[in-house]
Amino acid sequence: MKCPKCPDQAMELETWPGAELERCPRCQGLFLDAGELERLIVARYGGRIDALGFTPLSDSQDQKSGTCDRCRKEMDPFLGPHNVRLDRCPKCSAVFLDQGELAHMRSQ
Ligand SMILES: [Zn+2]
Ligand SMILES: [Zn+2]
Repeated sequence: MKCPKCPDQAMELETWPGAELERCPRCQGLFLDAGELERLIVARYGGRIDALGFTPLSDSQDQKSGTCDRCRKEMDPFLGPHNVRLDRCPKCSAVFLDQGELAHMRSQ
């Protein structure tokens, strides 16, 4: 499937214990199925998935709205832990994290 925020950029599948996620090689955003975010926030290995901090790219990406490539639906912004702005698909409840957002939610 394609990145919700980068036109025509295919995501790459990554498998972690208990979670399968897709990462965009261009913006380093993460696409998670419903329920995976909750697991990654508490998982011991979660910090390694997204060790990089915010960059100017991730900051501008954050302002864009994403489109779920699976459902062809525009994703709704919502606030996750520590007021991180996330995008969620209204149909399948998948979540898109911009680069650095997972690390930020775990760091406080
Ligand atoms: Zn992307
Ligand atoms: Zn969807």
